[in-house]
Amino acid sequence: MLTKVYTNIYLNEIPLPNNPLRALNSYIIISEDKNLIIDTGFNRKECKDALMKGIKELGLDLNNTYLLVTHLHADHSGLAGELNKAGVKVYAGKIDGKLINEMSSDEYWQGFEEYKILFDLEKDNISFDDHPGYKYCLKEPIDFIPLVEGDVLSIGEYSFEVIDIPGHTPGHIGFYEKKHKLFFGGDHVLESITPNISFWDFEEDILSVYFDSLKKIYNYNIDYLLSSHRNILRDHKRRISEMLAHHEERLQEIKEILKNKKMTVRDVAANMHWDLSYDKWEDFPNPQKWFASGEAMSHLEHLYYESEIGRFEENGILYYKMI
Ligand SMILES: [Zn+2]
Repeated sequence: MLTKVYTNIYLNEIPLPNNPLRALNSYIIISEDKNLIIDTGFNRKECKDALMKGIKELGLDLNNTYLLVTHLHADHSGLAGELNKAGVKVYAGKIDGKLINEMSSDEYWQGFEEYKILFDLEKDNISFDDHPGYKYCLKEPIDFIPLVEGDVLSIGEYSFEVIDIPGHTPGHIGFYEKKHKLFFGGDHVLESITPNISFWDFEEDILSVYFDSLKKIYNYNIDYLLSSHRNILRDHKRRISEMLAHHEERLQEIKEILKNKKMTVRDVAANMHWDLSYDKWEDFPNPQKWFASGEAMSHLEHLYYESEIGRFEENGILYYKMI
């Protein structure tokens, strides 16, 4: 469904079937000589139909149309290959663009097998083929035009500046339009749901990186924060404060869970509270087990980096405990 949200800016709602996110907000910005699309939906028929319907309704010439990908997740980048084949040039952040191409090969996802053991998820009998990020991603690498912070993309009356907002993914970017106080923020700040902050590697405390990116955007002058899921935000400062408080509560919750014993990532995740309609961990669909473990992991690693908890490995499985 196509809705006009601002002068020459349209929201094309792309359904995400059987996914708790429900829909992706793809934005289309039109001008006399070129058009921009921000994010695409999964690489699956239902998303492609909706994406193409919006493009057709606005009568876009794909040879004068550019795709901007905010971050690597398949619900944002999945159809980049299809659009590219149809004549659209594709921009992505330097870091996530490279990762999107790496993720188009099965080898990347084999790495999940190692984490499955480390996180104690073997007993859940899950596999990376259950992961929507794997199922609906780009299947062949494409030539991205890489974007870095400070790059400016001009279209009609708008000038969009590329802003680094890492955290939700390692190379998440947003687009800021200073004059009109618009910010296309991808999944950085969302209304009514909290973006999944996952685990990427042991090299960095990604939750701290995310907190810094939230604080960075807090200070921007923004009238409309055009996010990729749920409603467009009018008061990003309130929402950022709520989200920072939410993660603080999560960290306290984990410390409480670890109070009396050492625990694996899976067991910490299973004991955390989730806004899902399942009574117990065993009922979680496999993709939700991946997401919950990743979320638990980013918080556990943050506490580890802050020297609040310890971690050790036993028989190839990772354990955390209070110090
Ligand atoms: Zn995302």
